[in-house]
Amino acid sequence: MAGLKKPVALVLFGSPGSGKGTQSKYIVEWLGIPQISTGDILREHIRKGDAIGVSIAELLRAGSLVSDELVNELVRARISEEDCRRGFILDGYPRTTAQAEETMRLLGSVGVEEVVIHLVVDYNVIISRITGRRVCPKCGTLYNAISHPPKVDGICDVDGAELVIREDDREDVVRERLAQYDRQTQPLIEFFGKSGHRVFRVDASTAKPEAVFREVQVKLVGSGLVESGLVTSGLVG
Ligand code: AMP
Repeated sequence: MAGLKKPVALVLFGSPGSGKGTQSKYIVEWLGIPQISTGDILREHIRKGDAIGVSIAELLRAGSLVSDELVNELVRARISEEDCRRGFILDGYPRTTAQAEETMRLLGSVGVEEVVIHLVVDYNVIISRITGRRVCPKCGTLYNAISHPPKVDGICDVDGAELVIREDDREDVVRERLAQYDRQTQPLIEFFGKSGHRVFRVDASTAKPEAVFREVQVKLVGSGLVESGLVTSGLVG
């Protein structure tokens, strides 16, 4: 396992379909730091049915953002836990300028550098990737016309059911999700640029997640954030 030279908050930005989840998993394994996903934390509250969960369920169903105060507090509590002392990945947070300002204040006060990894993908590539997805309505197995097609076109390998397109994988819905992502992310990228954060742009257009991860590794090692001599596992070294 490679090591961070100092505690770093890796802010992972990537539109729907950019492979952000896959890259997070690779980084967790490579650097041994936790991934903090505000979406996962919020969904866990909903699953438990506690007071927070009840108050946010409707917002999540509508795809609207929950309040900055709530997510800021949840993240503040999470990053003060023991396993975050060596650094962590922020996934889905910050999402607004107010959240970014709060994170900067919080991390600045404890001397943790915030570094942004921006997975950039051409939207035409994303649209063909996502609209190529098919799911089995019976067993839930996922297929992709390009990267993981079923043996017989349109039919589930597992139980022979006819595959369907998920409602939110329809092209008009995907386009709307991308437009929403743009509206949220663009001001943040500008904010990070102006406030002196290091922002690494990584081309994530290729269908090969290993190649994208290699570029992430090269950027982090090349910037001196990761101890290159310790890169003994993962894809580099
Ligand atoms: P995600 O899994 O990151 O797509 O998040 C799922 C949902 O959780 C979003 O649509 C929002 O409703 C909510 N959410 C997640 N992260 C945040 C955040 N940083 N600020 C506000 N709402 C959030």
